[in-house]
Amino acid sequence: MNRRIKEKYLKVFVPLGLGLIFILLIWIGYKLIFNHKLSFLEKVDKSVYAEINYDAIYGIHLNFKGSINLSSDYHDVELVLANGNDEVVLPVKITQKDDEINFVTSNFINKGINLEYLPIGTYYLLIKASVLDNGKDITRYFSVSNKTDYDDLVYYTLSKDGKNNRIDIEWNTYDECPTLRFTVKEEKLPDDVYDVTIDPGHGGIDVGAIGSLDGIEYHESNLNLKVSLALKKILEERGYKVAITRTEDENIEIYDSGGSAVLANETKSKFNFAIHHNSFDYQTDELNGLEVYVASDIEFDFANLLIENILSETGTQISPKEIYQTAPGIYQRYFSEDDILEDEVQPSNKTTSMIYYYNIRELGGISTHSTNDGRYKDINGYPANPYNKANVTTEPYLLELGYVNNENNLRNIIGNEDKYALGIANALKKYLETEY
Ligand SMILES: [Zn+2]
Repeated sequence: MNRRIKEKYLKVFVPLGLGLIFILLIWIGYKLIFNHKLSFLEKVDKSVYAEINYDAIYGIHLNFKGSINLSSDYHDVELVLANGNDEVVLPVKITQKDDEINFVTSNFINKGINLEYLPIGTYYLLIKASVLDNGKDITRYFSVSNKTDYDDLVYYTLSKDGKNNRIDIEWNTYDECPTLRFTVKEEKLPDDVYDVTIDPGHGGIDVGAIGSLDGIEYHESNLNLKVSLALKKILEERGYKVAITRTEDENIEIYDSGGSAVLANETKSKFNFAIHHNSFDYQTDELNGLEVYVASDIEFDFANLLIENILSETGTQISPKEIYQTAPGIYQRYFSEDDILEDEVQPSNKTTSMIYYYNIRELGGISTHSTNDGRYKDINGYPANPYNKANVTTEPYLLELGYVNNENNLRNIIGNEDKYALGIANALKKYLETEY
């Protein structure tokens, strides 16, 4: 072989050969890992699948409802995330009737599967159940099929030490077996994804409630903004990415992009705090104190922490107001029969089990029964809530921090906006420290 040809061989065929070997190794490695990951699915019982007919992410929690046809001989039914090596047992409530098992992760929309605590990895959602077989208890796994109106879901965990996890929840088919796969991996938060949204109520021509102290007039819109900006600052110092509906005294939108009923979901925020101050009607009793308005069907853990921490930071009290009150300091105002009869569009799609305030009801999508499907556009100009049918939404709270026409309340609020903000921020911190 002459020198020229030898050089040509070295330059062309050696790198080509190495390249091919490299590709082959990658392929073998991929096959080994991929097949290993899925081989356990071959053991899944394919005679019957569970059907998931509801799935929704509300705040930091995911909830499922579904059923599976299994004989009543099955016992110890569990819902698990499994990958052949590890198993995460999920909360589930089981009702077994004849040959049907119904399951729900929680009856509360803000409980269920806490997505903040899922470990990194790839998992499949399976039903695990035991049955007696030839005198021996054996465990069987069943996969789940999608009977919801929704497809894949994506969730980003709250920022923690500058890090976030991305969770992809995807419907797939493996070997003709319907599966729901969870992939949890660390990933930088995209620019348009936030942790928390703050909505300082009112603004611009809408000043909200009015109070006065020592001859000075105070507008609710400004007090709301002061608390909101202080809260934004504290949360950002604690590492959260915070969106806000306004940063100055300006008119606000509701259903348009950036609006009070939209921004939290546009930014995929896990929590929305609507900050307000109240006023009472002089015709009725004088009122004072804190009122936390919440969605229906929720557990009050976080609402109670908000009350506890705002009270301890500011020295204010909970409101004595009884109407709409469901627990001390916690309020759920529902549509009344009259509200429904007076709805601008008839037949109304509202019911008495739906929350009255749009900044709670509309922000939770299907979880809180959003009603604005665009039916009011020709009447009051409000476009449809773009998240009217959303099953991935924020968890909203509406805080009425005090009564601006109660002199004691107003004295406690003016100059103490930072303390109210600290109370809210500390409540969030404590809520996230506990694995609810
Ligand atoms: Zn207000």
